[in-house]
Amino acid sequence: MSNPARERMDILGIPVDRVTMESALAIFDELLAADGCHMIVTPNSEIVSNATKNPQLAELIRSADLVIPDGIGLVKASALLGQPLTERVTGIDFSFNALKKLAAEGKSAYLLGSKPGIAEEAAKKLAEQIPGLIIAGTRNGYFKEEDERAIVEDINGSGASFLLVALGSPKQELFIEKYKNSLPSVKAAIGVGGSLDVWSGTLQRAPRFYQDHGLEWLYRLLQEPSRIGRMAEIPRFLIKVCVSRRKNANR
Ligand code: UDP
Repeated sequence: MSNPARERMDILGIPVDRVTMESALAIFDELLAADGCHMIVTPNSEIVSNATKNPQLAELIRSADLVIPDGIGLVKASALLGQPLTERVTGIDFSFNALKKLAAEGKSAYLLGSKPGIAEEAAKKLAEQIPGLIIAGTRNGYFKEEDERAIVEDINGSGASFLLVALGSPKQELFIEKYKNSLPSVKAAIGVGGSLDVWSGTLQRAPRFYQDHGLEWLYRLLQEPSRIGRMAEIPRFLIKVCVSRRKNANR
């Protein structure tokens, strides 16, 4: 499809759309109405930094129909690079609001991913919060490659318009990329990381204070200390941004 109007910024060679929650949801509406399955990605600094070293991930982000800046690090980096993003739009809030829109239109969603039982619990809790929401199918995210065909058939059989994939990044984006042309009823597919864990009540989202001060990453680290190695990517990302800024200034 032709890309709906939005500005695409460049952070270390990786595109990020300059959207607000409102404009991202307006684009979601357009994607739902257009032909084909559209991929929505929600990179944070860690993912952008990984993409600068992983050409396949970079290409995948470039090919996405909507690239939402999910991370305070990206907003700060964009300002440092002189092309500020309007705001941070978290993938979890965007997905929740997108589900509200879907429910209002009488369309359905499919939840794929997370440990056994989590997607079903998330579906139950979401339906309590979003009147009219139809979750047409669920499947846990621990499967072998040979099971993928059956999963795709299950998604197709459900008739869902919106597919939420929680397999962690980049596994979830690679899954969407691999199957998006085999999912005729799905109009939009998004990688949602740990969102099903949060919606199911298994994982606590950072309290408001952490969210408002750009410290959600710290809260997550306190909950899951094993993420420390991955989070080391964030300072590396900021160093790369500063180096890139100096190079641009010297041109
Ligand atoms: N997960 C999964 N299958 C896998 C690996 C991970 O379903 O093979 C799920 C995991 O249970 C969790 C989510 O993917 O619900 C990972 O979320 P996280 O926020 O850690 O994603 P990341 O930060 O890695 O993108």
